[in-house]
Amino acid sequence: MNQIASSAAETDSSLKNLVPRIIPRAEHGISRKNISNGALRVLYRLHEAGYKAFLVGGAVRDLLLGEHPKDFDIATDATPEQTRALFRNCRLIGRRFRLAHVVFGREIVEVATFRGIGEAGNSDRHVVDGRIVRDNVYGSIEEDAIRRDFTVNALYYDIADFSVRDYVGGIADLQHRTMRLIGDPELRYREDPVRMLRAARLAAKLNFSLAEETEAPIAGLAGLLADVAPARLFDESLKLFLSGHGLESLRRLHNLGLLGEIFPATAKALAGPRSAEFGRLLGYTFTSTDERIRSDKPVTPAFLFAAMLWEPVRSLAERLVEDGNDPNVAWQVAVDRVVHQQAVRVAIPKRFVMAMEEIWSLQSRFEQRQKKRVLRLLAHPKFRAAYDFLAIRAHDEPELREQVEWWTNAQELDAQQLSEQLQTSPPRRVEGEPAKKRKRSRRRKRSSTDTDVVSAPDAENPGE
Ligand code: ATP
Ligand code: MG
Repeated sequence: MNQIASSAAETDSSLKNLVPRIIPRAEHGISRKNISNGALRVLYRLHEAGYKAFLVGGAVRDLLLGEHPKDFDIATDATPEQTRALFRNCRLIGRRFRLAHVVFGREIVEVATFRGIGEAGNSDRHVVDGRIVRDNVYGSIEEDAIRRDFTVNALYYDIADFSVRDYVGGIADLQHRTMRLIGDPELRYREDPVRMLRAARLAAKLNFSLAEETEAPIAGLAGLLADVAPARLFDESLKLFLSGHGLESLRRLHNLGLLGEIFPATAKALAGPRSAEFGRLLGYTFTSTDERIRSDKPVTPAFLFAAMLWEPVRSLAERLVEDGNDPNVAWQVAVDRVVHQQAVRVAIPKRFVMAMEEIWSLQSRFEQRQKKRVLRLLAHPKFRAAYDFLAIRAHDEPELREQVEWWTNAQELDAQQLSEQLQTSPPRRVEGEPAKKRKRSRRRKRSSTDTDVVSAPDAENPGE
């Protein structure tokens, strides 16, 4: 396989030898019952119109593994325009590569025309510094197969006879639970460095190992992720951490040396003096997020990011205090600096950055027991996330456990009971801590756009 994608000329001759292994219907476990209605309708319609139509990618891989795919992608020899002509509910999207989206209520079925290898000069492919930036070259199914990333992602389920076609050894790798890049690994990572993250993510999700030649170049090429658009890295981060296998993804990223490329401060803190405690904090956070996703409970990336950047902020603030800075100022400077440095790598939308900062700033308000403050904190939109984070911190910080108990109890009381309890308990101050200056709460205006990348966050008092 190694020479396949090396040059257009070599590709031509290699493709002639690319004979698929065909697994007939009786010899694989894919049943149409497990394919969504929308995907089946698109497949049949294309087929009836005389086009080739295959289910492809993650869906075929997951079906062969007995899992439930989360989306169904289709590959065809119909052009996007020809596909659109067949469906009323179809729109064309994408600039880098044009795709057809066929919409059935909440389900979107993605239909892609076979991608070609293309030759320099007569194609619409634009390569900058070895990376593909635009790519509208259509081709054969063989070309489409070798353009995909991993062998297990390049299996095709043919609606014409319900067989599975394997051009690149994907079935064998699936059986050995191995992620293997198609073609020359170094070249494929250089073309698109995000494939390194996909290797970590898919191996985590599927509980696969990386083939030796797929893993080996990562250490030397991880730095290429610095050139990937921060917005794309944000999308990838969500897939890595919010797909139900966040903890395993984090572990794989860390072990492959990739975490430092997308969350540098987190990776640094995991190698720092409090690495064991921080590792446990992340373990609790990601485990609880993974469990919530599995039981269909809502999750927010802000909570995960707040945990991932907690130790960097905490340790920087500590250092600034040691240097003689006022604790409140030190905290705010640390928050601003860590958030800024992170935003250079991953474009976390502003609303999530604001939520992270709220989760952090609320941590010091759990000490307060005056009635007005308690009621205000309970009504705060980020109360629940901040309380959950306090509970996670309390695993390793026993001095926080009393607070967790108190607030657990406070949430269970009705308004009347809570009011009575607050009347009887005196305002509480933590032993040895200076009395906090009273300040009026300042609410920041919410940005009207969700996609804003974090810019200079305006100062907010964390002690408030
Ligand atoms: P998931 O289960 O997370 O959806 P997936 O493999 O389906 O995993 P997608 O991002 O949905 O991942 O991509 C669909 C298919 O497109 C992949 O299976 C692969 O064949 C191809 N693909 C995706 N990203 C790349 C890439 N960066 N380079 C080459 N092929 C890719
Ligand atoms: Mg997919």
